[in-house]
Amino acid sequence: LVNRIPLIAGNWKMNLDHLQAIALVQKLSWSLKDARHNFGEVEVAVFPPFTDLRSVQTLLAADKLALKLGAQDVSPQQAGAYTGDISAEMLAKLDSAYVLVGHSERRHGHSESDELVGEKARAAQAAGLVPVICVGETAEDLETHGAAAIPLAQLAAAVAKLPADAEFVVAYEPVWAIGSGEPATSEQAEEVARALRESLRDLRGDDVAAATRVLYGGSVTSQNIASYLRQPNIDGALVGGASLKADEFSRIVQFKK
Ligand code: PEP
Repeated sequence: LVNRIPLIAGNWKMNLDHLQAIALVQKLSWSLKDARHNFGEVEVAVFPPFTDLRSVQTLLAADKLALKLGAQDVSPQQAGAYTGDISAEMLAKLDSAYVLVGHSERRHGHSESDELVGEKARAAQAAGLVPVICVGETAEDLETHGAAAIPLAQLAAAVAKLPADAEFVVAYEPVWAIGSGEPATSEQAEEVARALRESLRDLRGDDVAAATRVLYGGSVTSQNIASYLRQPNIDGALVGGASLKADEFSRIVQFKK
């Protein structure tokens, strides 16, 4: 039996300048100080805006905090004439362990295709980062295709771009549940998480399917986190709004099943 260590990931989106970021991480480190021994059992990562990464990196290193760092997006290109883009190598240099690819706010707000999301995952992986591949259906998709079809297609397209030995995380985020205060039920989330894991078995074999963490995201709070973590195929959460408050995020991190 593979032990998948739960991952609680805080996506700050376009919130907090670097000074506010420092203040939040300091508060977080204070509220989590007694929980640090838990860090072997739960992995915690924050995903600040690019402009905050250096400040947060410095703080985490100086304080020896067992929080990990991730970025919210990455260029599919390595380097060169790509104005405004940030490369995976640059993120790796800032000790980013993770990077989100294909968040619905990128897919929908910036017309990112499955193909591009896969290329971003590939670029991240090549630089030693673990891509967090975000997938999820809109309310319209849900009515037309049911819950799992779109997430499964998005996952297959991204995984197709990754080499056989690549480590990655999958985040199932129904678009209708993001920032809406209307989370999927734990049963709904588990059903799609299970389908995603089954498809990983077909795409990558039993070992990868058993070792890959599948997160749920969409209006996660300290009130509902445990219900997701109790599901056999859900291995953590991608938390948006609730990751911006130190008290609430630390309650989420210290979930009790
Ligand atoms: C997200 O942005 O990935 C997210 C899940 O947001 P929220 O928790 O605010 O719904």
